[in-house]
Amino acid sequence: MPSPHETPSAASPPPVRDRGDIDPRGTKRDRSWPPAPEPLPVPVIDNHCHLDFADGDEQLSVHDHVARAAAVGVDAQITIGSDLEAVRWTAALLASAERPASLRGGVAVHPNEAALHARGRDHEGRELVGLDAAISEVSELLRGPGMIVVGETGLDWFRTSRKDERARAAQFDSFRAHIALAKELDLPLQIHDRDAHRDVLEVLDADGAPERTVLHCFSGDAEFARACADRGWFLSFAGTVTFKNAQPLREALGEVGLGQVMVETDAPFLTPVPYRGRPNSSYLIPLTMATIAEVTGTTLEQACRTIRTTTQDVYGWPVGGAA
Ligand SMILES: [Zn+2]
Ligand SMILES: [Zn+2]
Repeated sequence: MPSPHETPSAASPPPVRDRGDIDPRGTKRDRSWPPAPEPLPVPVIDNHCHLDFADGDEQLSVHDHVARAAAVGVDAQITIGSDLEAVRWTAALLASAERPASLRGGVAVHPNEAALHARGRDHEGRELVGLDAAISEVSELLRGPGMIVVGETGLDWFRTSRKDERARAAQFDSFRAHIALAKELDLPLQIHDRDAHRDVLEVLDADGAPERTVLHCFSGDAEFARACADRGWFLSFAGTVTFKNAQPLREALGEVGLGQVMVETDAPFLTPVPYRGRPNSSYLIPLTMATIAEVTGTTLEQACRTIRTTTQDVYGWPVGGAA
């Protein structure tokens, strides 16, 4: 296996957009990169981040993110492209000769994007292709190199009103199309569920969930966690599990235990405590892992080992190489 510290031969493509473009607090936030935490005793995989976003006072390349992650024992990453621009960027990165060996990805039309495609315009009023066209482009690109997951899809009643009939219908249509796509391609499915637990359950139960279904950035309580775990799905915890007001989330984690759990950053968002609001990157996962170990009453080493094995089983990657 190549050393993760190997210097890349060429610069990686620059991110497509700045987080500040979509985050109104962008200019007021502390945009300095948090210091690196203590390295993990056993390496884990960040199964959900967005490398297409730039953040921070110092611009990091894809290879910078990968190197910083590897230095603290996050030795593999899955980057997710969730609007059409990011989908194309992610596909190009994964297909390029410069793709780090420790990087794979997935693409989908994010639920909030599905609503925009149905409307035909983005937030700036620019014209967008229809939802069907967007999904067929995703379907095409998912067949390219380095793609190991369909995601993120699902339902979001936080940023898109469920009372907007067209938007709601678009989210349901898009979710169902991605469920079918995951089955067709025999890939795992990553679900985005924001304020939509019950509807997510209903759709998955009605259509039949793909064999490998992951609730990314799990945000439910213990009861919802149990419902998901009983169906054989996986819960991926982000930095939110470290937040002070996230007791229900820690109870959810305590409810399911380590067996069906994974870890992610959703970087550059959701930076774990004590660096909330600052830029996030895979190298900050040790902070989230510390909370996961504490809540599940295991050693950090055991928590890392179990999560690594689960993640490898679900994605079929990285092959071997378990610590
Ligand atoms: Zn999400
Ligand atoms: Zn995400």
